[in-house]
This record gives sequence, structure tokens and C-alpha cells, in this order.
Amino acid sequence: MRFVVDGMLGGLARWLRMLGYATEYDSKADDNILLRNSQTPDTVLLTRDEELYNRALAKRIHSVLVLGDTEEARLGQLARTLGISLDIDMASTRCPECGGELHEISKEEASSVVPAKSLDLYDRFWRCSNARCGKTYWVGSHWKQIRHTLEEARTIATQEEKNTAC
Ligand SMILES: [Zn+2]
Repeated sequence: MRFVVDGMLGGLARWLRMLGYATEYDSKADDNILLRNSQTPDTVLLTRDEELYNRALAKRIHSVLVLGDTEEARLGQLARTLGISLDIDMASTRCPECGGELHEISKEEASSVVPAKSLDLYDRFWRCSNARCGKTYWVGSHWKQIRHTLEEARTIATQEEKNTAC
């Protein structure tokens, strides 16, 4: 499954990339471009715009109208309706900035860009393989927040399942 995400859902695009999904996001892409880029098989168009959603349905494009106002609620909705994974696997996670694949680098390679304090605290580092981006990542203190958000999203996904069952 790959995603095309509308200009209002930049935060969600970053999450989907972290979860390992190929995600196309360009804040300047207009509706016609979004629809055209969603026509390949296994692609889901995610939008906040009801008009765009209805245009997609008319063209038989798989689209989801994203309803939640928080990232937790949005991820929960996608987990429930599309069955997306809410676990980050470092082997398949992608660069949140550009969607490029990440590969693990040595501490030595990381040392030129990672702050000394983080080099002391952490042992594993990853770099974006997209030459125009090349950002370096590590599982730092901010991961507590990332795990918390995914935990909330899981709760929302299961709550909504129960509500639907009732
Ligand atoms: Zn990147």
C-alpha cells in the first residue's frame, strides 16, 4: 500500500513514512495532480477535503476522508479502516522529511552530524538514502513521545472497532 496525501495532512504524511509506507506529499500539489498521482494500483488518496474525496470516488480511486483532528485520531482511523501497522520497524521505516529509505550507518559516520551528547547516549544511527536529503536519525529521547502517540492511536482504533460492533 502506498499513499498520496493532500496538502492539509503534512503531519500524517510524516507518520506514514515513519511507519514504513511510501507516501507522496507535496503541499503545493493541486487536486488534479493528487488525483492523477493516485491512479496507480495499491494507492490510497488521503484527504480532508470532501469535494476531492467525492471526485476520487467518482474516478474509482481508493480514497479515505480523514476525519480526526489529532495525529492519534487520524492514525487510529487508518489502522481501523485500512489495517495499517502502528509499529515502527527500523528495517523498513522511511525518512519522515522526504520518504527516502533509511540505512544504518556506523557511529563514526554519524559523528560528523550528530551532537556529541547523542553520540555518547546512543549506538545506532540511520541515514536517509536520498542524496538530496541525507538526514541522520537515531532513536533518541523524542521516541518516548512517538511511542505514546502510537499507543494512543492503537487505543482509538480498538475503541472505534467496539463502537462499530455495537
Ligand atoms: Zn530524507
